[in-house]
Amino acid sequence: MDYSNLSVSDFIKESKKGNIDIDDFHSVFFKKAEEIQKRYNHFITISKKEAKDSITKLDRKSTLAGLPISVKDNICTRGIQSTAGSKILENYIPPFDATSVSHGKEAGGIIVGKTVQDEFGFGTFSTNSAFGIPKNPIDPERSCGGSSGGAGGFTRAIDMPHIALGESTGGSISCPASFCGVVGLTPTYGRVSRYGLIDYANSLDKIGPMAKTVKDSALMLSIISGNDPLDQTSIQQKAEDFTRYCGKDIKGMKIGIPKEYFKGIDKDVEKTVRSAISKLEELGAKTVDISLPTTDYAIPSYYIIATVEASTNLAKYCGMRYGAQDEIKGYFNEYFSGIRGKYLGEEAKRRIILGTYARMAGYRDQYYLKALKVRTLIIEDFRKAFRKVDVLAAPTMPIIAPKFTDIEKLTPVENYAMDNLTVGPNLAGIPMISVPCGTSQNMPIGLHLLGDHLKEGNIIQTADAFERM
Ligand code: GLN
Repeated sequence: MDYSNLSVSDFIKESKKGNIDIDDFHSVFFKKAEEIQKRYNHFITISKKEAKDSITKLDRKSTLAGLPISVKDNICTRGIQSTAGSKILENYIPPFDATSVSHGKEAGGIIVGKTVQDEFGFGTFSTNSAFGIPKNPIDPERSCGGSSGGAGGFTRAIDMPHIALGESTGGSISCPASFCGVVGLTPTYGRVSRYGLIDYANSLDKIGPMAKTVKDSALMLSIISGNDPLDQTSIQQKAEDFTRYCGKDIKGMKIGIPKEYFKGIDKDVEKTVRSAISKLEELGAKTVDISLPTTDYAIPSYYIIATVEASTNLAKYCGMRYGAQDEIKGYFNEYFSGIRGKYLGEEAKRRIILGTYARMAGYRDQYYLKALKVRTLIIEDFRKAFRKVDVLAAPTMPIIAPKFTDIEKLTPVENYAMDNLTVGPNLAGIPMISVPCGTSQNMPIGLHLLGDHLKEGNIIQTADAFERM
């Protein structure tokens, strides 16, 4: 059978009724996934065998009724290799599921594989992956974005019902969503449990869905959110049904346009996003000019806080407990350095060195503590803005998906600067959604909608109204 024009909601409806031969559906799905894999390398692992086992136990009356779910490789999956894109975790097979994964499975989702990412999430283009670089299915000479690049690329490439679980520390859901022309929903920090997430930077990491439509993302968020005693930073909020924000109008919704987020933007991106904003006005939203004066300080603050946290988190990969191990020779510190020198990539090393420096006695006050103070000011900027408006609208990324040959020319600092529009909202821990709003040179452009803490409803409602229009 041909399942290629089936939406997620039709799949669920028909599967529940027993109108879909689930074995046939999944064999067609894996055949396509394997073909996509050959061309674009979106997966580190395709878990066909494990999926088969789950299908035999599937409850057809469950919420997702057998829907394929791909999972970013830094989210632990029981019995399926989870490397976070790093050689140092090659062959690591977690004995447990991350809470978001177990919620997905309990809801009847079938885990189909683990998607490619930058090593531990360190990157914007997925070019820092130890397991091959994912290619953008719209133009394979271009990046899928990062760090959830495989998730974005595969969500775009597969023409069958599917939802991805991605993860963002400083923009890793929004960026690939924008570059691949799909929807990426980053929840409020603490809304979705981080239990079982291989951390990059604990105070920033958030798991969230990527999908073809706003409603599919809202559905997946409803499934994975909710308080989890296994994650101490998980907030005391019950799971709710976020799909109820879809299908509504946005008359009277107040949308702020942060003027700093239109500085240094590619002209086509700016034009397309501004025209998307006028469409929101046609739908009845009221726009207001807003200023976020700390915008220029977001990159330095983020790259200090994120690397400081990463440098402590990565200390555990020393060849003793899990991951890469060699024969122990010489002193322990020689052994540790040997393992880390051999199995960590260049960008991971750069970030460990940067982060260690910024938290060293003598530099801590100047760098780390100052970055934390700046973070407080950034949060305050957003707080002030959300006293006046319900949603902020801006471009997701300053450019369209770049060609690999152009990425090679970037210095690390130029590379970090690409995250200018995503790191601020990520530092503030507010929810955001990137929704496709047009193209330039045939490549997609993302409209970024930001909401106040726990106001996912507002951004889902706005993005869904825009998408329907
Ligand atoms: N590009 C940013 C970084 O390299 C964000 C990546 C992420 O969210 N994991 O840190």
